[in-house]
Amino acid sequence: MTIWFATGNERKRRELAAILVGHSVKIPSDAGIAFDPDETGDAFLENAFIKAHALFDLVHEPVVADDSGLCVDALDGRPGVHSARYGGVAGGKLTSSERNALLLKEIGGAGGDAVCKTARFVCAMALVLSKERFFAAQETLEGEIISEERGTNGFGYDPIFFLPERGLTAAELSEQEKNSISHRAKAARAIGKMLETI
Ligand code: IMP
Repeated sequence: MTIWFATGNERKRRELAAILVGHSVKIPSDAGIAFDPDETGDAFLENAFIKAHALFDLVHEPVVADDSGLCVDALDGRPGVHSARYGGVAGGKLTSSERNALLLKEIGGAGGDAVCKTARFVCAMALVLSKERFFAAQETLEGEIISEERGTNGFGYDPIFFLPERGLTAAELSEQEKNSISHRAKAARAIGKMLETI
């Protein structure tokens, strides 16, 4: 089956294609489609469906879309759906390191070392087969925020996201290791199982 993935990110396409074995995963740029819908939802799943339905309206074939972010307990789940644009002003974005520094400052302000550092990456994934037929999965990767960046792999909040059972940050894992345990991989595997049943 051809599955369209509502992303401009080639790395994400490879990650999904490796999980949805036997399907052909295409992204909008393959067909010269400029795709950048406004992610106006207050929840990850809402944004995933906004993207999935928007792309379905263009391609009229099965579509997968995801939305992800970091939820920090000490910050009542923020930055959450605003993870990508956290700290940015007037549409401008901070660099990942600037975002991480801001997050650590905010957690410090919320109680410093005494504060609970538990956090999770969340990924919602929507599979739209037609306007009336769709499925969803939302998964997490549990961890703790540490006070200094560690590791150079990965992206975004990975250098300050510590996995206690591994003793490493997400940025100290290889791409393969991260992809085997990530919130995105777990959600994609759930979507893959749904695809097997349709
Ligand atoms: P998007 O769903 O790809 O737009 O990701 C939203 C934002 O959440 C990213 O820009 C990152 O800041 C953050 N994020 C999501 N997943 C990860 C991850 O696996 N590692 C680090 N940051 C992540």
